[in-house]
This record gives sequence, structure tokens and C-alpha cells, in this order.
Amino acid sequence: MIKRVSIVLAKYCPHCVPFSMRNTSRMAEDLRVPLRVLDIEIPEQLEEADKLVEEHGDWSEDYLIPQVFVEYADGRVDHILTGFSETVSVTEASWEALFSSKLYHSLVHEQLATNHKSLKEFVKKYLTFQGRCRRHCDGPSSFLDLWSDLNNVIGAYACPGGYVSKVVYFSVDPDIKLFKSFLSSQVGEEIVTDRDICPATRHGWELGSDASAEIREVTPTGVIKEVYWTIYPKTEDEKSRGVFICSHPEKGRECGKLFVQDTKSRNRLCPSVGRPSATNFLQDQLANQPISYELLSWK
Ligand SMILES: [Zn+2]
Ligand SMILES: [Zn+2]
Repeated sequence: MIKRVSIVLAKYCPHCVPFSMRNTSRMAEDLRVPLRVLDIEIPEQLEEADKLVEEHGDWSEDYLIPQVFVEYADGRVDHILTGFSETVSVTEASWEALFSSKLYHSLVHEQLATNHKSLKEFVKKYLTFQGRCRRHCDGPSSFLDLWSDLNNVIGAYACPGGYVSKVVYFSVDPDIKLFKSFLSSQVGEEIVTDRDICPATRHGWELGSDASAEIREVTPTGVIKEVYWTIYPKTEDEKSRGVFICSHPEKGRECGKLFVQDTKSRNRLCPSVGRPSATNFLQDQLANQPISYELLSWK
């Protein structure tokens, strides 16, 4: 898994600024990792830049710039590009060739696939717990997947009766708007309020030594954000209704959609046959994301 993109540059160099700088930003964005800029005119950065170029790049006393690298979580470093000594347009063409290359697409593809798989696995392994149903029954509550994409995992704690005590959203870089629109699309916007949405930061060390060792594979910052949606009803009317997950008493989960009904109801199925399901939400999200067709075909 790639943890960072680095560029060695100098501000005075026309091969570096603005376009190589812009292109490495784009790379970091595509790969969803931080960008590190090492300016050889800044003494503290020069030291790091020299080390990177000497160990992994095209080294000489007066080495060429820019030089671009991807750094992996396991310590590996790949050299990606060195500026041309010829005219600026040659370096520009080399960037264009990189972006349209198979190599670049598989780099992004692989990174996002690993990211997705590992975030979801990490969450399941270390950040979901058996609990108790509240305000509904004395049964156990367990975590059910609702929706996930490359960088986001959303799930709910529900009891065997289908009552949902909270919905949790996990991401390295959470998008609260996305979470709210997910919730609103299922239960209606009127019950989704900012007051009931609470963020929390989870560090590897608080989850045990295994999690501590693995968390860096999932997040370059070593931290996962967790956003809870727990409804705290105020009025009697609000107390009489609860959020449920659509499920079938024998077959297990049906469509997995959240819906609101009387807390005492024994109904297990949502009323919205034909309305958007969690799966449709995923497709809508992907369709709205500015990502290449390669990624679309991956899902
Ligand atoms: Zn219950
Ligand atoms: Zn349903």
C-alpha cells in the first residue's frame, strides 16, 4: 500500500513549478495519500531530498529536478519520474504519458482496492463490538454492513428484532455530508440532525498491539475517524418511533435498508419496495464521483 507521494523540486525550476507540482498533487489525490514536497533550496528539506534521490532516484552531485517518488507503507520506494534536461515541453509530455499509461492506472486501481478491503477488514476486526439493544429489548446488538466504498464504511448496530441503536460511519477522512445524505436517503431528512451526529478519533494503540501494528496499512495518518449517529428522542412522539433495518425473520436480512416505524412494531420489512436500496446508493455515489472509468469497472 502506498503511503505517500514525494516530489523533489526547486521553486525557480520551470520543469517543477507549476505543472510538475500540480501533477504530483493530482497523483496524491488519485491515490488518496499525502503529498510531500522537498524543496532543495530549504536546508532541512534538502537533506531529505538528497537522501531520497541518492537511495532511490537519479543521483549525481547536481542531480536533475523534479524527481517524483511513491513511498510504500512497508518502506519500499519507487522512482516515478525525472525531469528532462531538454525543454520544458518534453517534461510535460512525460507527465501526460504517465497519466495515460497502464502502469499509472494499475497503480491507482491497486491502491484503492487494497485501501477499501483493508479499511473494511480493519473495522470489522477491531472497531465493531457486541452490545446490548437499548430502549427496545434486552437482546444483543451486533454490527451489520450497510454500505461501503473505497474510503468509507457505514454500518449499524441492530438487535435480532431489527431495531437499530446506532449507525456508525468509518473513514480516514470522513465526509459528513455524505453520511447525512446516506442517512436521509433511507430514513428521511427530518430525523437526521447535527445534534445526533458525534465524531470520535480512534488510534491504533487503544485497540491493542495487533491493531496498532496493522493500522498503518489502512491509514497513512495512523488514525481512523468514527462518526456515530445515535438518535436521542426528546418528545413522546419521537420516543414512540425507532429506526429499524429491513430484514426477514427467517431469511436474515432482506434489503438492508433503514426505515422508521413504531418502536413496538414486530414488522421486519421496510415499506419501500422499489425505492432506492443501500446498493443503489452505492451506485449513485460512484456515478457521482470524479473517478476514471477504470475504477468504475473495478467495483
Ligand atoms: Zn431490540
Ligand atoms: Zn426493505
